[in-house]
Amino acid sequence: MKTAQTCYLCQAPATTFDHIPPKSLFPKDFQYKGVKVPACKSCNNATSKDDEYLRDCFAMTGWNKEARQVFLEGVRPSYLRPYAMMHQVTKHQKILNSMAKIDIKSPSGIFLRKVTAMKMKSDRVENALKKIVKGLHFHRYKKSIPDNYTLKVYFQPTDIGLNLLDEAKKKGALNAGRFGNTFCYMGFNVREDEFVGIWWLSFYQTHAAILMVDSSNKLLG
Ligand SMILES: [Zn+2]
Repeated sequence: MKTAQTCYLCQAPATTFDHIPPKSLFPKDFQYKGVKVPACKSCNNATSKDDEYLRDCFAMTGWNKEARQVFLEGVRPSYLRPYAMMHQVTKHQKILNSMAKIDIKSPSGIFLRKVTAMKMKSDRVENALKKIVKGLHFHRYKKSIPDNYTLKVYFQPTDIGLNLLDEAKKKGALNAGRFGNTFCYMGFNVREDEFVGIWWLSFYQTHAAILMVDSSNKLLG
């Protein structure tokens, strides 16, 4: 069982476990049934801040009951901690500063309404999303996605992303899972190469992303 003891992210000897999807995304009273994948301490520590950032962004802007609950139980207390309040610019302030009113327009350019949006650091969110896909893949195939494979993130998938998903569905095998109304996913891997595929992740019935795992454009080629 060598594979069970190497880190799913860097292949160093695993000394701990990572939860996929991150436990912090879930309300406290939710019966968590995520998976545990072997990880090394340094990967585990290095990614925990990105996980927290993902939770903050998605729970604050998610519209369902679970998002609201995670905001009250997890996000809010984290910026009201005495230590957090000591920073010159508090986390709360940073979040408020990142909020903006934006105009929603129809495809033909007609103004529809103003909504509150949040500018997020997409690289941090992307890292957290990629980690979820790497973890789901490892859990399913007991192998890490090799470094020479690229992971590309499409937020709130447009036609392009959805077409890719259809394309992958035709070519491959399906993985799927649902964790209450907090998180669900679908993954399609092509039969010729188990690493190549498309994963669709959804959070709080609000946010969706498609991640494409590819090597030398096998999926599109
Ligand atoms: Zn590692």
